[in-house]
Amino acid sequence: MSGLIFTLFVIAALWALAYFAAPLWLWTAAAAAGLIADGWLTHVQPTLAWVIFIVLAVPLNLRPLRRILVTDHLLSWFRKVLPPISETERIAIDAGNTWWDADLFTGRPDWKKLLSTPPANLSDEEQSFLDGPVEEFCKSLDDWKITHELFDLTPEAWELIRKHRFFGMIIPKQYGGHGFSALAHSTVVMKIGTRSTSAAVTVMVPNSLGPGELLLHYGTEAQKQYYLPRLARAEEVPCFALTGPYVGSDAGALPDNGIVCKGMYQGKETLGFRVNWDKRYITLAPVATILGVAFKAFDPDHLLGDKVDLGITLALIPTNLPGVEIGKRHNPLNSAFMNGPTRGKDVFIPFDCLIGGTEYIGQGWKMLMNCLSVGRAISLPALGTGAGKHASRVTGAYGRVRKQFRVPIGKFEGVEEALARIGAYTYRMDAARRLTAGALDRGEKPSVLSAILKYHCTEGMRQVLGDAMDVHGGRGVMMGPRNYLARGYQAVPVSITVEGANILTRSMIIFGQGAIRAHPYLLKEMEAASSEDHAKAAVEFDRALFAHIGFTISNAARALFLGLTGALFVPAPGDSATRRYYRQLSRMSAAFTFVADVGLLMLGGEMKRKEKLSARYGDILSHLYLASAALKQYEDQGRPAADRPLVEWACQDSLYTIQQRLEELLRNFPSRPFAWLMRFLVLPLGRPYAPASDRLGHKVASLLLEPSDARDRLTRHAFTSTDPKDPVGRMEHALKQTLAAEPVEEKLQQGMKKRLTPASYLGLVDEGAAMGVIDAKEAALLRDTHAVIRDAIDVDEFGSLRGA
Ligand SMILES: Cc1cc2nc3c(=O)[nH]c(=O)nc-3n(C[C@H](O)[C@H](O)[C@H](O)COP(=O)(O)OP(=O)(O)OC[C@H]3O[C@@H](n4cnc5c(N)ncnc54)[C@H](O)[C@@H]3O)c2cc1C
Repeated sequence: MSGLIFTLFVIAALWALAYFAAPLWLWTAAAAAGLIADGWLTHVQPTLAWVIFIVLAVPLNLRPLRRILVTDHLLSWFRKVLPPISETERIAIDAGNTWWDADLFTGRPDWKKLLSTPPANLSDEEQSFLDGPVEEFCKSLDDWKITHELFDLTPEAWELIRKHRFFGMIIPKQYGGHGFSALAHSTVVMKIGTRSTSAAVTVMVPNSLGPGELLLHYGTEAQKQYYLPRLARAEEVPCFALTGPYVGSDAGALPDNGIVCKGMYQGKETLGFRVNWDKRYITLAPVATILGVAFKAFDPDHLLGDKVDLGITLALIPTNLPGVEIGKRHNPLNSAFMNGPTRGKDVFIPFDCLIGGTEYIGQGWKMLMNCLSVGRAISLPALGTGAGKHASRVTGAYGRVRKQFRVPIGKFEGVEEALARIGAYTYRMDAARRLTAGALDRGEKPSVLSAILKYHCTEGMRQVLGDAMDVHGGRGVMMGPRNYLARGYQAVPVSITVEGANILTRSMIIFGQGAIRAHPYLLKEMEAASSEDHAKAAVEFDRALFAHIGFTISNAARALFLGLTGALFVPAPGDSATRRYYRQLSRMSAAFTFVADVGLLMLGGEMKRKEKLSARYGDILSHLYLASAALKQYEDQGRPAADRPLVEWACQDSLYTIQQRLEELLRNFPSRPFAWLMRFLVLPLGRPYAPASDRLGHKVASLLLEPSDARDRLTRHAFTSTDPKDPVGRMEHALKQTLAAEPVEEKLQQGMKKRLTPASYLGLVDEGAAMGVIDAKEAALLRDTHAVIRDAIDVDEFGSLRGA
């Protein structure tokens, strides 16, 4: 009996040491104490055990010995399995930094740290810009005219862009721009996107990765002084050209080149580059006055030095230089923002045209990756979230206004499911957008989180717009000035493709870079392994490796303990509705970190080719982040009780997705014994999570079906109107009118129950009024509402589609 108790005590002690990531000396001391206790209890000294203990403990605790006996061998093995990292990959990995992603990769996220970060808020000046110029701009936009009649923004819209310096949101005030925060920039793009994707992309591009941002970070003072005020006032229209027929996602492989040579510029002979390029898909190229061009620089005549291949270089090329071709247009899924090819044939540019001057020759890839690590978190996530806000508002209204069998379609269970997804996805996207923008405004450059945002907000956009189209039925399909959904829906693949196409982002970037950047030890091990200084490499590799081993053991112990106890004893913030989600996310963080470590250990460099596994790891990391963001949003907004269904649905969906990806990972993990071990440790009692329940979905859907503070909070900054002549205003107006008429409608239906139903609804109203079931005023309200609803559900009709 005492033997059993002792054994149980030893297991508990080992588990506790592992759980709390005890240092090696404590493990050693505990093992020695265990052997002493065993000898004392059994009156027999465990000699063999002592020998094994000494053989292991001495070299492990004496670092110089440990390095010779253990670490050096492991370092050689690690160097062999380390994936070859190309220069472009190395630069992409080095770009930006880590933030909450690194916490999620510890297995024990510090919730206090997350919740104590200040909520992201707009300044008064930014709010007035949204309420004034952005509102004015949105009101002026007629998306049908833009996309169907003009294939361009209206002259009035272009004028407003210039007048209110929409191209200068990221340009500091000292250079004539607005100097807005990332949150303001994102909110402006989001709001315009709820009105017209074409207008949003037009405004978005000069403020995202392109000449403006590159000049801000790398431009010479003379370049900044000259270009930035002109860009802010839209006197110069910029574009940035990287992509070409032979270079897309693999942007580092671009064939466009520049040769160092002498040439004539403004009447003088000067040293520069003769550049040739063939680019396509370039936004704003057809109307650009300056082209940002990425090319590979070569110096075959050694005019600059010994090196011939100088690397990717970025230049700002005025479009009026001889040899530059612009003006032709692509038609990107009927969006009307300017997009087209540009080609350059032997265009001579002086060194002054290089962004940052000669100092930055060959630094182009690094410059682009650094800017992308921030920009990717702003524009497209804003567009995706805007789509969610717009879809929530109009689909909720349509679901209430449109009736079948006298029941609003939004109350049918099938439609409810789609509405619940629209509402909760929007809540989660908005939460992630705000959280990440807030981090950017505090100076973080979280490149992995940017990729997560880009991917999940554009995939979220695909989901919510698809659901919104389904709920609208034919009203969403028939195109024309009344249709406020179809153009956004059509444009979804644009967002999916640009700034890192989504399949690639999911399969290679999120976990591929996340594991290296956000993992506490992996990058340290890789840096040590690639160090030329062997003595230093051995010391640093040893330190990182043994910390890593302790970390992995700790996460395994934690994952098992939290799995067996349902994470009930994990300290967690939040309220009665949200506390359990913090606990479950802590549990899944430990499970993810452990499973990721085993995957990296088993697959090493192979992981790069195992894109399907990498994508699932990426999904888990992403949903840990998205659910964290939803919880933070709920706290930042003061825990509004009405929003609980939204935050709960979002968290339950994220946890269920995490579980599904874990299952898929384990089912497809190449080493079966390791897969079984991982399953035992991370899912010891089977599957803990279920999808959000039908009851919860009903509550979320109901939030969209009538005006409320929760609906306004969810759709804040979406363009709205109550003008019955406006495409969106028409539906909002109909919603208000429908709700006002509903009690009278009910009175009429009850009062007329036993009557023969007249042929038409208006006949019923007339009869009800004649019989005194409703009074004349009420009858007028019902007739008016009937007309308003008819107008709201109507679609456009054309005499002829040619030229319509
Ligand atoms: C409307 C629009 C506007 C644009 N604006 C600009 C602009 O202003 N400037 C500019 O330079 N470029 C611009 N682009 C180009 C855009 O960045 C590219 O389209 C994008 O990089 C993808 O390249 P690609 O279209 O050649 O697709 P490809 O690279 O051929 O990719 C095709 C598919 O394969 C997937 N894929 C590729 N490699 C891998 C891999 N290793 N693993 C898994 N999946 C992979 C991709 O995810 C994608 O789904 C624009 C594109 C569009 C459509």
